[in-house]
Formats: sequence, structure tokens, C-alpha cells
Amino acid sequence: MIDADNNPHAELIRVPALDDNYIWLLRNPSSQAIAVIDPGEAEPVMRWCDDHHASLTEVINTHHHGDHIAGNAAVMERFGISLTAPASETARIDHISHMVKEGDHITIAGFSAEVIETPGHTTGHVAFYLPDCFGDHGLLIAGDTLFSMGCGRVFEGSMQDMWSSLAKLRDLPDDTLVCCGHEYTASNARYVAQLGWNPPELATQLAAIAKATASQTPTVPFSLGLEKATNPFLNADDAGLAEALASHIDGDAPFASHDPVAVFTALRQGKDNFRG
Ligand SMILES: [Zn+2]
Repeated sequence: MIDADNNPHAELIRVPALDDNYIWLLRNPSSQAIAVIDPGEAEPVMRWCDDHHASLTEVINTHHHGDHIAGNAAVMERFGISLTAPASETARIDHISHMVKEGDHITIAGFSAEVIETPGHTTGHVAFYLPDCFGDHGLLIAGDTLFSMGCGRVFEGSMQDMWSSLAKLRDLPDDTLVCCGHEYTASNARYVAQLGWNPPELATQLAAIAKATASQTPTVPFSLGLEKATNPFLNADDAGLAEALASHIDGDAPFASHDPVAVFTALRQGKDNFRG
């Protein structure tokens, strides 16, 4: 039984940045601790702090890309705070105070968090799972590994790496809320809509995304349970998806239809080349 007075829930704040990035702030209302996650630029974070008379207490990075870390130094200097980032990225992320790796248990804004290594988008990418920061359900800080209806591009790791990373995230509870690094949902949904894969909840999900897109309403954070049901990148081992893809791709299908890594590879490469 959770006592709401003694265990106030986290507050998650979305700060749009650059073209389509989201910087996240996680605030603990009992301590006023505020973690900033992946500050790809400092200015919008500073403005939020000024507007709210707030101070940040820590910086968290999921991976080394500039659109996730370029604001680190300015934010750390202004507030005199530490940086938590992947242990394997000391050569590519400066001034890491707390190095983390698979299975580490840390706190973020005072909430317990587990580190999950998710190589694929980059070799050193990590996600953070906070099982009880909303009381009866958790938060996944997914960085550029999992997007709504999509996943990150596979820049450094292998397709096997990325599929294994997504399969790990899929094991988290359905009621987990997910925040990720980009608003790519509309493009992802256009790609998914033409795959010929029709799980029961997909039509409703696509309609909801179309409505949000039309009104320029952010689609992140989102429910992991709904993604498990409708995101093909979390379903590369689904026979129905494999069959849809095999018939969707002309001529000699470039994958053995029941090998999840081959299905995932075809899906990811299809999205990389998709212009819709
Ligand atoms: Zn990235």
C-alpha cells in the first residue's frame, strides 16, 4: 500500500528542443529534486528553470549523440550538478560523475532506477527504468532506443543488438509510461500503416495518432502496453508480422520469415528507406 503523502509521485515535464527532440525533467515533489534527461541544448532548459524559479539537481544521459548531450556543460556549470551517463562512453561524453552499466541500481531525483543497457542505436546506449516513481506504475526513459510506433536507427550496433535491446524493454510491465528522445510518431505511423500488418489495436492507435498529429498534440510519453500491441519493432517474432512483411516485399523476400532478427532487419531497413 503506497502512502501518497510519503511517496509523492514523480512529475514528468516535457521540454521541446531543437527540431524534434524532447528533453525531459523529472521532479520529485517531496524534495524538489529535478533531474534533466538528455539536454541536447541548454537554452530551453534554462528558460524553464527561470520561468519556474527552479534549480536542477542532476543530469542524466542515455547516449552520446550531440542532440542529447550538447547542453550538459552549461547546465552542470549553472547549477553545480553531477552527470550520470553510460560507463562505456567516457571517451565520447565529457565530465561523467557517475558511470552506469547494466543492472546498476541508482536513484534519479530520489526515485529508484535500474540501468538497462540497450545497444543498437549506439553501442553504449542505456535506458533507465523507474519502477515506482508514479506509485502504482513505472517510467521508462528510453532515449533513442524505443519510439512510439518505431525505434531508433541502428547506427553503431548490429540489428541483433537492437532487437535484443527492444526485447528487453518489452519485458517491462504493460502499465509502464515511456518517454523517448524524439517526436517521430507521425512518420512512424505512416510507415506502419502500409505494412499490411493488422493486430487488433492498431487501427485505433493509428486513428489516435492521426488526431494528435492534426492538432499538434505531443504523443510522448506513451504506454508501453499499447506499444507491445501495435509497434512492429517490438513484434519481430510475431508470425503474423513476418507473413505480412514477406508478402509486402516484392519478389524474393530478403529474409527467412520466422527469424526475428531477419524480420527486424527488414523492418528497420524498410523504415530507413521509407518516404511517406
Ligand atoms: Zn541518438
